[in-house]
Amino acid sequence: GVKTTLRPLDASRLRFTRTTTPMTVPQPGDPIIATASQCTDHMITAVWRSTTGWGDPELRPYGNLSLAPTASVLHYATECFEGMKMYRGFDRKLRLFRPDSNCKRMLVSSTRIALPGFDPKELEKLIIAMIAVDGPKWLPKAGTFLYLRPTMIGSAGALGVATPKEATLFVIATFMPPLGAPQGLKLLASTDGVRAWPGGFGFAKVGANYGPSLMANGEARARGYDQVLWLLNGQITEAGASNFFVMWKSKEGKTQLVTAPLGDKIILDGVTRRSILQLTRERLSHGRTGQDPVEIVERQFTMEDIVQAVNEGRILEAFAAGTAYFVCPVSVIHYKNQDLQIPMSQGDSGPYTALVKSWLVDIMYGREQHEWGVVV
Ligand code: PMP
Repeated sequence: GVKTTLRPLDASRLRFTRTTTPMTVPQPGDPIIATASQCTDHMITAVWRSTTGWGDPELRPYGNLSLAPTASVLHYATECFEGMKMYRGFDRKLRLFRPDSNCKRMLVSSTRIALPGFDPKELEKLIIAMIAVDGPKWLPKAGTFLYLRPTMIGSAGALGVATPKEATLFVIATFMPPLGAPQGLKLLASTDGVRAWPGGFGFAKVGANYGPSLMANGEARARGYDQVLWLLNGQITEAGASNFFVMWKSKEGKTQLVTAPLGDKIILDGVTRRSILQLTRERLSHGRTGQDPVEIVERQFTMEDIVQAVNEGRILEAFAAGTAYFVCPVSVIHYKNQDLQIPMSQGDSGPYTALVKSWLVDIMYGREQHEWGVVV
């Protein structure tokens, strides 16, 4: 047969159609912000077909998508997404934080559900092109952020359970309130449901990981907790849609920062997680002045390890880490009818949690010049 080359995703072919009905930017405190539904004037779209590859990407007015009721995504959850923020620095520059990591992870996710591949660099260029158009108007205030949601769906209208013949990539930007818990996150450890399992897709940011977690999340909230701490056979994996870190004294008396490993492919390779691991390895593992060195450990650990550390007074701090909740101190973990108290010695945080958070804030908002803070 005739060999055809499929066209790759190519940001240089971006076509611009600007809105003729620009929207009003909500002021700080506007209740619309809390709904996380107010998007900016434009979005990026690009359509892939199995016969031709990627069509020219478009920047066009934000608006509804049109899908056949038979579209693959509506039946078989052929959907993956990313979550990242653009930041208006204290120096007034617009930045992304490690956008290359998000774009590479999007490729990991899309291929896991048989959606097409692309060069992550091209996606990054599309995101930057969108920010160039909407950033100046929609993110005027220093020290604030907008949330970016690159998404890919199987959009072919055909009910067969088969790899999608068409996919639609889109990028939108929304307002989102800073999430968090002033008294620290209260986590409910899951003892009856699991989020992910070996051989599954917990490592991928696919919608199919989130819908089924909402019931447990709703139950946790009804019982007065903020998030579910997801376990697998007693092993700690993630907290809600964040990675989980604990700081404790090991039985040998070493100060350790511990988080679950990536090797089992059951947790998401969080950009915040990997950044915290790298910074703490660089800045804490040799000990700060007057402080013990901190051992940074990626390994399996269990709720029983936490219970023991709490009972023996070895627990120092715990926090959740992710784009939405950022670095969020944990104050309580409920496990087997017991509220385990996690220290927050500075009142609203532990000292290391606060330190790690401040390092990241400084990079994101341009107080520290760092290669992870990409000026756009
Ligand atoms: N785990 C899950 C399940 C998530 O959805 C997220 C948010 N993307 C994270 C962890 C944290 O990842 P990141 O730091 O890249 O936001």
